[in-house]
Amino acid sequence: MDIRIGYGFDSHAFKAGAPLKIGGLSIDHPEGLAGHSDGDVLLHAITDALLGAVSAGDIGTFFPPGDPRWRDADSTIFLNLAMEEIRNAGFRIVNLDTTLILNAPRIGPVAGAMRESVADLLGIAPGNVGIKAKTPEGLNIDHVAQAHAVVLLERTEEEGDLQTMTAMMESQRQLEDVVRDLVSQVHGVEVKKSPFDTDDIT
Ligand SMILES: [Zn+2]
Repeated sequence: MDIRIGYGFDSHAFKAGAPLKIGGLSIDHPEGLAGHSDGDVLLHAITDALLGAVSAGDIGTFFPPGDPRWRDADSTIFLNLAMEEIRNAGFRIVNLDTTLILNAPRIGPVAGAMRESVADLLGIAPGNVGIKAKTPEGLNIDHVAQAHAVVLLERTEEEGDLQTMTAMMESQRQLEDVVRDLVSQVHGVEVKKSPFDTDDIT
């Protein structure tokens, strides 16, 4: 089984008057998260986890913070690029787990909707998305939201099927070799190889 694990972390400060978006979900709150983009701390952590799992760098590699194109950008742009990177590398998401650390707003009441939103953006079932939240006890960081994300990837079936087919063809070829050896031992003559050489098919 070909699997990968990825981990991502992000943090943003709260800013009065800005709209609050976490996990692609708009949340009614007097403060939003300050950032060059829409400040979606959870989507940024997930994006980094996906990119890290396939050794494709991090969000800053693709979207430098100073680039005016990404000013107030919807963070689903970053997430979609990371999804494309893992697809190109031949992987898909098995599941992910996340933890948010923030004092307010309370995530519990919106956790279900947030899980649906993230699952929808990633194209996986909500049952494969973990959304957890904690308050920053003893950390003295009242006006900051932090997010941690871990993701598990597996090699896509197409690739796995191809590997199985290759292995089957290889074992059939070995079997043919054994039979050919046995026949030549019995008859004392070498049996010619089949004109259909399967070597080229893979
Ligand atoms: Zn961020």
